[in-house]
Amino acid sequence: MLQGKEILITAGPTYEKIDPVRFIGNFSTGKMGYALAEACANKGAHVKLISGPTTQNIIHPNIKRIDVLSAQEMYAAAMAIFPTMNTAILCAAVADYTPKAPSATKIKSKTSELSIDLVKTKDIAAALGQLKTAQQVMIGFALETNNEVENAQKKLREKNLDYIILNSLQDENAGFGYDTNKVTIISKNTITPLPLMSKTEVAKEIVALLGEKNE
Ligand code: C5P
Repeated sequence: MLQGKEILITAGPTYEKIDPVRFIGNFSTGKMGYALAEACANKGAHVKLISGPTTQNIIHPNIKRIDVLSAQEMYAAAMAIFPTMNTAILCAAVADYTPKAPSATKIKSKTSELSIDLVKTKDIAAALGQLKTAQQVMIGFALETNNEVENAQKKLREKNLDYIILNSLQDENAGFGYDTNKVTIISKNTITPLPLMSKTEVAKEIVALLGEKNE
């Protein structure tokens, strides 16, 4: 059981404004993060779900949803909450870049070409990883297209995660938009591939890791 544990979950995409009506986003639906929130709440945890824009809905007495739009907003919300959390699960597909100077007015379509300068966003997982205490557990996700396990292990170390859940884009029916996922759970010393399963079942497997850590 995760009775009374405080768990922070980030979910969904972020939207980075180009002007008041346009943004840079990605295809994340938030399904995996919301499934995780529900699985944790059903085990008795108190969940703070920091969510980018999604069509997902969840109503559960143990889940407090905090809606954000941009990577910067998600970063600020996560940093504010993390010190009082037992666990953080970083499931959001955070934009890596954001427009350097979003226009205050709608950009007119006058020219044949348009360039937008982008700057790197803050890495939420890495920032939390630097604050993490020995009592806190952190789980991240990685979506890789090549040298998957090596890249995921590198991210595990660099972001100071306890586990990283590797999604491979090479697996059919897994990843963005699908209800199923095929993941490999990687810790410092273990690599555990799981079969294709529903995101709800994947969420239960991930929650089981927390049970082990908290015992
Ligand atoms: O480096 P990469 O984006 O592949 O890392 C993925 C992991 O890091 C995910 O857990 C994701 O939620 C997290 N992340 C983050 N903030 C970012 C970029 C990624 O929390 N700006």
